[in-house]
Amino acid sequence: MLKLPPLTILRPQNRDELISGIADRQSGFKLLGGGTDLINGMKKRLYPTASLISLKRIRELKGITYDSSRDHLTIGAMTTLSELIAAPAIAKTQAAIADAAKTIAAPPIRNQATVGGNLCLDTRCYFFNQSRSWRKLAPDCFKCGGQVCNAVPGAKECRAVFSADLPPLLIALNAQITIDSATGEKTIPLIDFYTGDGTKPNILHENEYLSRISIDNLSAKKSLYRKFRLRKALDFPLAGVALAFESNPEGTFTNPQIILNAVASGPIAIPEAATILAGKSFNDEEVVQNAAAALNAAAKPVANVGSKPFYRKKMVGLLFKKMVAELVAGQEA
Ligand SMILES: Cc1cc2nc3c(=O)[nH]c(=O)nc-3n(C[C@H](O)[C@H](O)[C@H](O)COP(=O)(O)OP(=O)(O)OC[C@H]3O[C@@H](n4cnc5c(N)ncnc54)[C@H](O)[C@@H]3O)c2cc1C
Repeated sequence: MLKLPPLTILRPQNRDELISGIADRQSGFKLLGGGTDLINGMKKRLYPTASLISLKRIRELKGITYDSSRDHLTIGAMTTLSELIAAPAIAKTQAAIADAAKTIAAPPIRNQATVGGNLCLDTRCYFFNQSRSWRKLAPDCFKCGGQVCNAVPGAKECRAVFSADLPPLLIALNAQITIDSATGEKTIPLIDFYTGDGTKPNILHENEYLSRISIDNLSAKKSLYRKFRLRKALDFPLAGVALAFESNPEGTFTNPQIILNAVASGPIAIPEAATILAGKSFNDEEVVQNAAAALNAAAKPVANVGSKPFYRKKMVGLLFKKMVAELVAGQEA
């Protein structure tokens, strides 16, 4: 059985204590959300730290609020996935967010796992997410501080895959995130949070944390997220597609956005496919076929998780076509 190293955990009660805790430690610590990914990683010695700062007791980071006068939704970073799924405001404005959360892990994990932890989830790789003794059998890869990629021999950079299920849909919905630190808050589009670098998937500095997510004009949009995985529970995505557009009675893709998941080191927007769809009917089979082909072409998965890259690439287009078929039938979940 893998054991945690001896740890120190700071449990700040509010923002001020958190900011001073971060300032005292300066570096070499990890922020703890629900711990459903981080603790596993620490048991495998993926992160060389023995110092955690728990965000659990900070009230300001919790909860979901919806301002109907502005059609503006705010989700605190420490909101659990179960709370997200149960929130009336989400059910009323954009149930697809709850549906995406339901595809993550399983209920006991979702009771603990947070939205912030999902957005800050580390990239994954078959050669990285292993115990220290297993990893010693191969040369240190880029993600472990070495100079090779064990998944793609000859690659010049880390190709670990981005596998968090909420970000693609939230990006398609034009979500913004607020990052806080001792110098104050800044709000940026979620898409700009991700680097596409497998070794460091987001732009957060060590003295910063994710405080909340906000989305405008939610109820005017329609969105869907579909993922390919081997089992219907407990499995990370092997490929994923998020689609959002402005709802309209004509059944056309108005201002569509399409984001791919789990086929690169970050979520990727595919404007070529969105341009093909823009203003076209759900029923236009040629358009749907062309957009699916553009998605297939943009997806470049590598052999770093449990399914063949060619199959994951193919699944991207199929997931998209299935989504559109659900829209046509009016049966989307
Ligand atoms: C069996 C199993 C199956 C899983 N399946 C899926 C799946 O299908 N899809 C999926 O997306 N995930 C999956 N997960 C991963 C994980 O449970 C979720 O991604 C979860 O939402 C992570 O949230 P957390 O609060 O537990 O994050 P933690 O484990 O606490 O943290 C994850 C990372 O985020 C950082 N972090 C956390 N909160 C903040 C913050 N507010 N500001 C800055 N940094 C922060 C941490 O420092 C850490 O680096 C699975 C996990 C397990 C164990």
